[in-house]
Order: sequence, then structure tokens, then C-alpha cells
Amino acid sequence: AKAAGRRSWRVYNPALQSRSERVHALHRALSQAVQRGELSLHYQPQVRLTDGAPLGVEALLRWHHPRLGVVPPAEFIGVAEDSGLIIPLGDWVLEQALRQWVQWHDQGVPCARVAVNVSVAQFRQGDFPHRVQAALRRTGAPAHALELELTESVLAHDAEAALATTEALRALGVPLAIDDFGTGYSSLAYLRRFAVQRLKIDRSFVADVGRDGDAEAIVDLIAALAQRLGLQTVAEGVENPTQGALLLARGCQLAQGYAYARPMPPDECASWLRTAGR
Ligand code: C2E
Ligand code: CA
Ligand code: CA
Ligand code: CA
Repeated sequence: AKAAGRRSWRVYNPALQSRSERVHALHRALSQAVQRGELSLHYQPQVRLTDGAPLGVEALLRWHHPRLGVVPPAEFIGVAEDSGLIIPLGDWVLEQALRQWVQWHDQGVPCARVAVNVSVAQFRQGDFPHRVQAALRRTGAPAHALELELTESVLAHDAEAALATTEALRALGVPLAIDDFGTGYSSLAYLRRFAVQRLKIDRSFVADVGRDGDAEAIVDLIAALAQRLGLQTVAEGVENPTQGALLLARGCQLAQGYAYARPMPPDECASWLRTAGR
């Protein structure tokens, strides 16, 4: 009866089985994606709320698999993190983003910096600052052209090691931002310890500005805190001009979201930056 039970568990949980099969298939395909040229970066502008001037872009990874189609990062970043593939992938993203910045710089495309997302596994490598330094050297990009976006969970994992890593990055001159700010825990303690320049206010709060007093209170608090600590705030996921105006009134400096521009392939983003930057 036991054996039968186990067999039926396997047979009658097709959802579970197919999910693990999908993860397995994704992992196999992802491990070849770089060499096969299936990965690319899209870039989403960040603008100054007062006048809409573009200040930089965030690099967002895209995977176009020939059979699976466009696989969203929400699905494959997790797989890459669990399998360690995020290390080579992260290196690729960093180098690609810096190359793009250098190319735009040479072409006179107005883009002060490119922000790159950093995963926990990447950040935890002992030689992460060294890898960043090597990528800057290989591409010829100055440190101030880069911004690394760290989530609170990246900083929370091993606070002592994280402090050493952020200090080393600061010594290189690389600006740091805290991504999805307000969704992690112990945010306030980390702010005092880590040398960050920007807070990205999570989309979940931004979405409710103008219709939910609690979300507005949180945005007000983050903006006031940032101001006191000398940090800039970037509102993420701003979807309409009304939200942008409300966020500006509440003390946010920068914004990113569909209200201004979607993540775009490099050429499209360059045109956007040239037009908006005039
Ligand atoms: P994130 O870092 O919070 O990136 C912002 C996400 O919000 C992006 O989703 C972007 O396309 C989306 N977004 C931008 N504006 C709006 C808006 O107005 N409304 C809405 N609803 N969404 C908006 P995307 O590109 O699907 O990326 C999802 C997540 O995947 C990212 O969240 C980030 O955590 C991760 N990710 C993407 N690229 C990389 C990468 O190169 N490395 C690592 N480690 N993670 C990455
Ligand atoms: Ca981000
Ligand atoms: Ca974010
Ligand atoms: Ca996010």
C-alpha cells in the first residue's frame, strides 16, 4: 500500500513534476544562453522629476529562448541564483552594461550612469569588488558611470562581509543604491552602516500613491529619511504623470517607470535619451 501510495503521489502530482521539470529544462537552456547569444539587455531610463531630464538607465536582462520564447527574469533569475549560474550571468551583464555606457558616451548619448542589479550570490563572492574593478578596467568605463543596485536581502545576509564589500566598492568610487526599498527588513539599521547613495522606493508603495494614505505615509517617511541622510530617492514603477507629480510633491527626486519609458533595446533607448536630453 505504501509503495502504491508513493507511486500514485508521483503520478497524480503532475503540476509538481512539471514544475521541477521546467526548472531543470530552464537551467539546462540557461547554461548555454550566453554562448548562443540568447541574452540581451534592455535599458530603462531614470528621469529627474522636476523637468523629466534623463539621468541614467537601469540595465534589465532579457532572455529570448528559441523554443520557450521570452522567459521573464522573474522566472529565470531565481533558477540562475539557485544553480550558481548567476555568477557568470552577472559578470556578463556587468560587462555588457559598461560596454554600452562607453559606446553611448563616445556617441554623445546623454546617459550619466548605468545601474546594474546584483544578486545575493554575486555579492557574496569574496572577490566581487575585484570583479567589478576588472570589468571597469576592461571596458574603460569610469566607476561613476556604474551604479550597483543591491536589495536589502543582499545586505542582510552576512552584515560584516557585506560591510567590507560595500566599503571596497565605495573605495573604487562605485555608487550603490538599495533596490525595492521598504520591502525588506532592518532597512533603517543598514542605512546607517552602508555607504549607499540612493534608495529606490519599491513599486508597491508607488502604485498606491494618490489612493492609499498608508502608502503615502511610507513614501513621505522614506523621502524625509533620505533627505536627512543626504541620499537621493528614485521612485520605481511610476505608471502615470499624476503619480510622478504626487511623488515630486512628496520629496522624491528621480523616477523610473512606464510613465516615462519602458525598458527598451539599446538603439531605441539611445534615441529616447537623445530626444529627452535635448
Ligand atoms: P527590479 O530590479 O525591481 O526591476 C524593475 C522591474 O520593474 C523590471 O521588471 C521593469 O521592467 C519593471 N517596471 C519598470 N517600470 C514599471 C512600471 O511602470 N510598472 C510596472 N508594473 N513595472 C515596471 P523586469 O525587467 O521584468 O525585471 C524583474 C526583476 O528581475 C528585476 O526587478 C530584478 O530583480 C531582476 N533582474 C532583472 N535583470 C537582472 C539582472 O541583470 N541581474 C539580476 N540579478 N537581477 C535582474
Ligand atoms: Ca533593480
Ligand atoms: Ca526594484
Ligand atoms: Ca523588484
